[in-house]
Amino acid sequence: MNYISTRGAGIGERHTFSDILLGGLAKDGGLYLPNEYPKVSADELARWRALPYADLAFEILRKFSDDIPDEDLRELTRRTYTAQVYCNVRDEENAAQITPLKTLGVEGGTPLSLLELSNGPTLAFKDMAMQLLGNLFEYTLAKHGQTLNILGATSGDTGSAAEYAMRGKKGIRVFMLSPHKKMSAFQTAQMYSLQDPNIFNIAIEGVFDDCQDIVKAVSNDHAFKAQQKIGTVNSINWARVVAQVVYYFKGYFAATKSNDERVSFTVPSGNFGNVCAGHIARMMGLPVEKLVVATNENDVLDEFFRTGIYRVRKSSETYHTSSPSMDISKASNFERFVFDLLGRDPKRVLQLFRDVEEKGGFDLQASGDFARAQEFGFVSGRSSHDDRVDTIRDVFEQYDTMIDTHTADGVKVAREHLQAGIPMIVLETAQPIKFGETIREALEREPERPAAFSGIEDLPQRFEVLANDAERVKEFVAERTR
Ligand SMILES: *Cc1c(COP(=O)(O)O)cnc(C)c1O
Repeated sequence: MNYISTRGAGIGERHTFSDILLGGLAKDGGLYLPNEYPKVSADELARWRALPYADLAFEILRKFSDDIPDEDLRELTRRTYTAQVYCNVRDEENAAQITPLKTLGVEGGTPLSLLELSNGPTLAFKDMAMQLLGNLFEYTLAKHGQTLNILGATSGDTGSAAEYAMRGKKGIRVFMLSPHKKMSAFQTAQMYSLQDPNIFNIAIEGVFDDCQDIVKAVSNDHAFKAQQKIGTVNSINWARVVAQVVYYFKGYFAATKSNDERVSFTVPSGNFGNVCAGHIARMMGLPVEKLVVATNENDVLDEFFRTGIYRVRKSSETYHTSSPSMDISKASNFERFVFDLLGRDPKRVLQLFRDVEEKGGFDLQASGDFARAQEFGFVSGRSSHDDRVDTIRDVFEQYDTMIDTHTADGVKVAREHLQAGIPMIVLETAQPIKFGETIREALEREPERPAAFSGIEDLPQRFEVLANDAERVKEFVAERTR
């Protein structure tokens, strides 16, 4: 398996899975993709149906990572996808399934289900990929005798998923910037209560954007970055995307009895990482009818799939919503799909994403390419705060199930795309406890709290407050990496 950039770099060169694992963008600014998608045969699909999650993950990942010996990869997936790690299940008997499927009921002539992806340590779907990444990073660094210092900024979900994935890992330190006193008590406790010596929580006296600006400033200091071995774990990381392919297969098997059936997935979307994995599963041959992209008020992606116009939003047009992990101004993984949509033509991708930088977007309506988006199964919809509140209330009353705000965006949009006889699977991306305020607004009660999190706000917290100053952050990192 060779990896190429969506903008053309690396064609004719050799880039293995391990080569691109620790990096971010390709050197031409594009995103890495395999030179072709591996296909799944009917025999394989039949055999995979009965596999436990970890072994299914092994079978899928090995098709993308032929430079990792099978026995090592199998050990890594078995260590990652365990009932102990994904223990925050709502039904005890589901603990071994890692991503249990919960059928809500029959609507529009078809079962409507939730695929639970948020039973991991931070109660959001990002754990599904990040936990594997932690083990893959540790494995690869040890193999090459290297170390890595991960620098990131977070307003909640990504940062905590990265910390819980990297805690205690050899050769890795995490420096995570978060806005001082701006996160919920629960999110703050989740991150700051970690006592592992390789995890550094840095509370910046500023807002989330200030944290992001500091990360950019540090990353732009190439000498410092190289000397301190600074890396990131953002959503464009290829291994994160490919790890997410696994649960589309798992969800398909849980929702069907035979491999002749088709299903649709609805995916609460922000940076297009999650649904990009669904696209890849479909390209591999998983019988997927529709991939429904659900956005909140930040509807960059919904606009594209309705009109063919991709228009990046200014920060003044990017809203803070009650499904905050989908509050994006541009979708950083979208370029991967555009590459496929344009028949894998890197010159055109390069031109379009130059237009994004220079003119703020592009329009594929006129060129005729856009019509093909539907051939790839994509449709979309958007949701508002009132929709979320109504959906949380409705699902609770009808099905006695409490869902979080992002999943509510998914259910709302899924209901607009039901087709009789084709099971609809909504990806559940977080547990309600993470977004308690909206749960209280919708249900006038407290969100359910998994047992492992009782009293987490009272645990001792380990963090350092720093001024909103990139130089100060560099000093802090340098002092701790000596
Ligand atoms: C990150 C996140 C999303 C968006 O996923 P993308 O891969 O960025 O599309 C949705 N819901 C939750 C809870 C998240 O944490």
